Amino acid sequence: MITNSKIAYRQHDHLRCQNAALQQAKKLCARDDVRLTPIRETVLCLIWESHRPLGAYDIIEQLSESSGKRVLPPTVYRALSFLLDQGLIHRLATLNAFIGCPFPGSVHSNVFLVCRACGSTAECSVDTINNAIVATAARAGFEIESQSVEISGLCPMCQQEDPHGHKDEGQKPGARKEAAP
Ligand SMILES: [Zn+2]
Ligand SMILES: [Zn+2]
Ligand SMILES: [Zn+2]
Repeated sequence: MITNSKIAYRQHDHLRCQNAALQQAKKLCARDDVRLTPIRETVLCLIWESHRPLGAYDIIEQLSESSGKRVLPPTVYRALSFLLDQGLIHRLATLNAFIGCPFPGSVHSNVFLVCRACGSTAECSVDTINNAIVATAARAGFEIESQSVEISGLCPMCQQEDPHGHKDEGQKPGARKEAAP
């Protein structure tokens, strides 16, 4: 299994994540002989501002604000579609938002652990999940074009700050006991 969960849910020097993502993107684009134009690079950096998924509308707003002129949606959608094609970002269907891929350029499954409280999202690639998906599709005679598993819950940081005080009820969702104290 590969994952960035050790970083995504903790206080850390995020500038390093951002720089690493940008360097990797430049390297992969050079390798594949495609251009990381300024707008594509800017959109990628915006998405890498945090480990929280960012919607296209937010990207358009932030770009318009920072550039001082109205950025047209098609410009942003074209940049997003390029970044998706290159595997530099992923789209989270349930949120209709985008997140930077921490391990671009490698074949991996898209399993996302999305914190419903703070939005922090870690990406994991797990062979056993991959194999199960491939086997399930094969049995159904289904041809997979893309796959994404999105899991909602609370990250380690938000579990400690859960305002509803569910802390003592165990980690498993739905594990609430019937008996009153
Ligand atoms: Zn980071
Ligand atoms: Zn990825
Ligand atoms: Zn959280």
